[in-house]
Amino acid sequence: MSNKTYDVVIIGGGIMGCATAYYLMQTDQRLKVAIVEMDPTYTYASTTLSLANVRVQFSLQENIQISQYAYQAFGQFEDQMTTDGNKPSISYRREGNLFLVDETGRVAAAEALALQKRLGCQVEWWSGAQIKEHYPLFKTDDLAGGTFGQMDGYLDAYAVLMGYKTKAKYLGAEYINDEVIEVTTSGGRVSGVRLGAGEGLTSKYIVNCAGAWAAKLAQTAGIELPVQPVKRQVFVLNTAVKPKGPLPLTILPSGLYFRTETGDLLLVGKSMVEDPVGFDFTWDDKRFTEILWPELAKIVPAFDTLKLRRGWAGLYAVNTLDGNAILGEWPELGGFYLANGFSGHGLQQAPAVGRYLSELITGKPPILDLSIFSPKRILENKPLSEGGLV
Ligand SMILES: Cc1cc2nc3c(=O)[nH]c(=O)nc-3n(C[C@H](O)[C@H](O)[C@H](O)COP(=O)(O)OP(=O)(O)OC[C@H]3O[C@@H](n4cnc5c(N)ncnc54)[C@H](O)[C@@H]3O)c2cc1C
Repeated sequence: MSNKTYDVVIIGGGIMGCATAYYLMQTDQRLKVAIVEMDPTYTYASTTLSLANVRVQFSLQENIQISQYAYQAFGQFEDQMTTDGNKPSISYRREGNLFLVDETGRVAAAEALALQKRLGCQVEWWSGAQIKEHYPLFKTDDLAGGTFGQMDGYLDAYAVLMGYKTKAKYLGAEYINDEVIEVTTSGGRVSGVRLGAGEGLTSKYIVNCAGAWAAKLAQTAGIELPVQPVKRQVFVLNTAVKPKGPLPLTILPSGLYFRTETGDLLLVGKSMVEDPVGFDFTWDDKRFTEILWPELAKIVPAFDTLKLRRGWAGLYAVNTLDGNAILGEWPELGGFYLANGFSGHGLQQAPAVGRYLSELITGKPPILDLSIFSPKRILENKPLSEGGLV
């Protein structure tokens, strides 16, 4: 049986794979593009387990610019992804992001804010009193203040994923339900992939969009990627006292975060250094009751009475070098492109990443230069310096 040949084979049909396929097809509908996805139910994909927050509050210029493009792309998404009159609905809610800042974080927050403002972002400094004025339930005594991004917010990750997938297929991309078990190579270049079902696909361009499975996949081509699957947990609560109106995604200096969700719910989570590496999707209510709840009630004392409804665990694909995206061609294997290591902020980066990869592969000059995220920095051991959450 001869292998089917494609111009581009994308491994992983999460948000990165589907966005990349969409931008490739939008660039040139003659391209033969295949997306190979091992789990079309997306039970364990990070995309569907995400909080789907979009923010410009980063400290690295390119990460801010990526989010500025996300604002634009998600703002037009429903119209652009319409196919045959079917318009997706992504519930884009711009309810703000509030980063609370203590004295030790003041200088770094001021520097990041200055950069965000220079780039034209709508982010402002709020004193403790201003925070209380907007959100009277908050206790701000121990804070220096906070930065508030009014255009930040969240959306329905599954709807965005389906929007990209449906449009990419509509434009001619092929979606294959199988597992890639090997990236094949020949003479220092990729030659294709071998599928679990036995057959192979031939292609000069392979894109690794395998999320938390990215390093495992790269290993089949002899490449060691510094990307680890790390479990992160989210808890869903009903608080006895309901805030008047939505609360923004609020991020404490410790990394604890929370926001309101539709249906009178509150979502809470926190990344911790002891979070386990591996493909573990169990969640633990004790982590909430013993660690997160006391911390939450300190900042919002009214939340000392609540009911834990449920929780979930998903994986961050953590780039252990610097917590930032790894984008572009692997310098030692021609045609092997990476969109990996997004840690906790990949959902919002999908539009810019998909567009950038399509530009690299089709040889168009990039609209936004993201070469700072080149995988070359891994081989040279030169980490980027984005502060804040991974
Ligand atoms: C709890 C949580 C909260 C988050 N919150 C946010 C947030 O608020 N904002 C934000 O921007 N980001 C957030 N993220 C991060 C974001 O979800 C991810 O960065 C993003 O979804 C990564 O997309 P992806 O396509 O790379 O990976 P995934 O969505 O995981 O997709 C990868 C796909 O590849 C498939 N695959 C893997 N290996 C193979 C193979 N060998 N063959 C075939 N298929 C394969 C998998 O089945 C999977 O469907 C969060 C993540 C988690 C877990």
